[in-house]
Amino acid sequence: MNQLTVVAGPTAVGKGTVLRLLAQQHPEIYFSVSATTRDPRPGEVDGQHYHFVTEAEFDELVASNQMLEWAVVHGKHRYGTMRAPIMEALAAGKPAIVEIDLAGARQIRESMPEAKHVFIAPPTFEDLAKRLATRGTESDEERERRLATAKVELAAQAEFDRVIVNDTVENCALALASFMGLD
Ligand code: 5GP
Repeated sequence: MNQLTVVAGPTAVGKGTVLRLLAQQHPEIYFSVSATTRDPRPGEVDGQHYHFVTEAEFDELVASNQMLEWAVVHGKHRYGTMRAPIMEALAAGKPAIVEIDLAGARQIRESMPEAKHVFIAPPTFEDLAKRLATRGTESDEERERRLATAKVELAAQAEFDRVIVNDTVENCALALASFMGLD
């Protein structure tokens, strides 16, 4: 089993919670840790949630061709996937997951056509707006920006091999595992 699964979906859809449950249920999966130029949120750990890097460090990762893909997300900060750890995991026969935005998913579709793409969708757009407000980690301006990105992402669902609606975390994790052939 060595396949790359790309997981995308709008802000606050609950991807993080679903992927945490999947990680508990399937410790064999390698989860890519992205590099980002944004600041850590309270509780986020460098090297675990993200590699938090400076603009110059990000430039260097791109220039030295260490990024499998990267994008400016929500019109603000750069996020990218480091190539080497994923290739190592796949070579070791592990299934691997990257959780990235639409632009990143499109880049991987070009460079690794064998990767499988899953979109995690909210039951409704209103549900998404509510979840984002409840999370309370973003300013009003940032929330508006994220909802605008979400509209664009929701319109692109047809590009994905599978759309999974996050009705409950458990169902969503099961559907994802099944899509990856892990059950
Ligand atoms: P957050 O700032 O909430 O942690 O992440 C915002 C969004 O950035 C995520 O929902 C995800 O779509 C995107 N993202 C995270 N890591 C990467 C990455 O490595 N590459 C790309 N293209 N997008 C990423």
